[in-house]
Amino acid sequence: MCSVVGSFVRILILFAIGVVLLIVSIALNAATLSTINKRFDEIKNANGQTTVSIGSTTRTTTQPPSSSGNLTDSIRIADLMYHLNELQRIANDASNTRAIGTRGFSETVNYIYNYLAVNAPNLNVVRQPFLVKNFTVKGNPILILSSGGSNRTFTYSTNLARSDFTYANYSAPIALTEFNLTVVPNYGCDPADWQNVAGQAALVVLGGICTFAEKCELANKYNASALLYYNHGLTTASLAPVIARLRQVNTLPAVCLSYAAGQELVRAANMTSASIWLQIEIENYPPFMIENVCANTKEGNINETIVIGGHSDSVPAGPGINDNGSGAMAILVLATNLARLYQSGNYIKYKYRVRFCWWAAEEIGLVGAIYHAQQAQNSSAIIGNRLQDYLINLNYDMLGSPNYMLGVYNGSSAKPGTPPSARNGSIRISETFSSWFDRNNLPWDYTDFSGRSDYGPFLAAGIVAGGLFSGADETKTPEQRARYEEKLGLGQGGLAGAILDPCYHKACDTTDNINQLGYEKMVQAAAYMLEYLGRLDDLPTWLYPNGRQTTELPENYFPNSDYFRDVDS
Ligand SMILES: [Zn+2]
Repeated sequence: MCSVVGSFVRILILFAIGVVLLIVSIALNAATLSTINKRFDEIKNANGQTTVSIGSTTRTTTQPPSSSGNLTDSIRIADLMYHLNELQRIANDASNTRAIGTRGFSETVNYIYNYLAVNAPNLNVVRQPFLVKNFTVKGNPILILSSGGSNRTFTYSTNLARSDFTYANYSAPIALTEFNLTVVPNYGCDPADWQNVAGQAALVVLGGICTFAEKCELANKYNASALLYYNHGLTTASLAPVIARLRQVNTLPAVCLSYAAGQELVRAANMTSASIWLQIEIENYPPFMIENVCANTKEGNINETIVIGGHSDSVPAGPGINDNGSGAMAILVLATNLARLYQSGNYIKYKYRVRFCWWAAEEIGLVGAIYHAQQAQNSSAIIGNRLQDYLINLNYDMLGSPNYMLGVYNGSSAKPGTPPSARNGSIRISETFSSWFDRNNLPWDYTDFSGRSDYGPFLAAGIVAGGLFSGADETKTPEQRARYEEKLGLGQGGLAGAILDPCYHKACDTTDNINQLGYEKMVQAAAYMLEYLGRLDDLPTWLYPNGRQTTELPENYFPNSDYFRDVDS
């Protein structure tokens, strides 16, 4: 208990760094969000009709689903919003976050666990604990530029708007040491960019098509001794240093500089032989324990399991109601409603076991899902818990974006290297989702399937994957808006030119940041998919018509998590 509270405080300190920048961005994003919501409201009122029931907290979720005996029909926005309001309450009592290591996170896990215990007693609920590295930076890191005979000391501050640089999360410590400085050409996304960094402090700009962590891995591979990122300054929001997150196993000292400080270093390195002095003191604490939770149907073949997952944690910056309260609570409603249908006695149970999972620590790099997949491929994994027992992983990460799309992971955009049998089955899943949207006369869009959410490790290990995504920092196009207006009715198309979730990874990701119309449709689609797969006579052959190839998930598997993406878009 104490260590949890202790790490909570330390993490608060760590993340307090972003507060001032955050306040500015909250104001901007709250303005966009309120414009989006106002637009929806105005048009709703003008038409004198609503397609969405608001005031959702009035219903509790203790009623059985409708008697039609159909999982899709059992999905109601009121149930979903009931749970999201509970997550909001949890965040309100926990400094507005549900990030790992905080009380908001442990309360979220308890909420899921306790709700299932009461409302789905016929599911087997299992907690899967694992450890996350815990540290804090001691004192002020030091960065001094030595060039042309003079020294320039850069300002370190936890107030990013006023600092020249800050440390990267999971930076290695370094005693005060001098390094020659070398500038990495381009964005440092290509191994060719890193040919001259051995033994040097490598200075690299943010942006490009790769992540902080990928740049760091290249720096490591080509034997850089320290890594200095600097912001690209392409927008006013990208002048200050940012908090880069690296892999927990990173061994390079790393900091991130402001655009101006970065330019100063580039000039110095280009004109003279410049060196830097760097010091970062890190205090490591015992790692803290967090948990994945999975709930299994007791019925169905344990060697043929349908896994439905989404992450339970938020980012430190906010309550994470859309990301990923929306997906996590969709899965809670799916689990509860299926459990009730199973109990009702007049619902034919599936041949396949269903396992509903809530993954922890997605936001620091899919850590919970990777841990689960790695445990499942251990030779000691028991029957039913092995990767080969998993037929498919459906992932729900962000389903209620305010300026939403009805997004379907595009199986054919799976990363090169994805086992072909997993890719082919994933395309089938995409098509099944999109044809459901078509049949229900709903608009939809294909979205990126690059492994940046918890399905990544399953897909990489050769398991068919799929899922839905309502959008983060993508912008709604005029064409998209027109198409959504046409299908959903006047005023339901959202705002063209605005991003799909202006509160993505921000403090304003509250229950106000949910489009209830879009959210309900997405969860209905998810329910349809589960029931459709559950009812297939031969799901293994449907998913893997040419047989199944599994691939060993590498020990150092590390995804392109969105959280690591350092491009402003
Ligand atoms: Zn997410």
